[in-house]
Amino acid sequence: MTPALLVLASGNAGKLREFHQLFAPFGFAVRPQADFGVADVEETGLTFVENALLKAREASRLSGLPALADDSGLEVDALNGAPGIYSARYAGEPKSDARNNARLLASLAEVPEGRRRARYWCVLVLLRHAEDPVPLIVQRSWEGEILLAPRGEGGFGYDPLFWLPDHGASAAELTAEQKNRLSHRGRALQALVAAMDGGQGER
Ligand code: IMP
Repeated sequence: MTPALLVLASGNAGKLREFHQLFAPFGFAVRPQADFGVADVEETGLTFVENALLKAREASRLSGLPALADDSGLEVDALNGAPGIYSARYAGEPKSDARNNARLLASLAEVPEGRRRARYWCVLVLLRHAEDPVPLIVQRSWEGEILLAPRGEGGFGYDPLFWLPDHGASAAELTAEQKNRLSHRGRALQALVAAMDGGQGER
């Protein structure tokens, strides 16, 4: 049977590969939004879920297909939740992981160990069509602490500063497999698949 198409509201090749594999058992082939001429929308929402919905709705509207979008970021308690939805551009444009990490360390310079709790969030949104009044939404977090200096070479973004007390390692010191299993994104994906499997109401 020919798989049904699902558009991914992202241009990230890594995300595309991961989502494509996960959705294959459900009879969906995941295609990038660029295949349908969809460009990135302006993320004007004030929450991850609003931004994920904006992205998914635009991709669905322009492609005429069901759409999947994700939005993620880091929430630091001592910074009242910053960088939050601004995580990718915390140190301004052009986006830079190195400058974002430097700004995060500077913002926490006066905050001692033990008061540097933080968590990553990942929100996934699945819209059956652009006017879907009941989007499937999952939000999952990953708890950690912000280190005083970077550790490790793996991962991306804030991973070298994200300490996992239970594992005695930073997120950048985990293997890709370990991170996928534990992370906010990995867990959100598992939850979405479980919600699709188990159904949500009569969906
Ligand atoms: P987006 O979901 O691709 O828009 O990413 C949002 C931003 O949040 C990224 O650019 C990173 O700065 C941060 N972020 C989200 N997930 C992770 C992660 O797993 N590791 C490190 N940084 C992350």
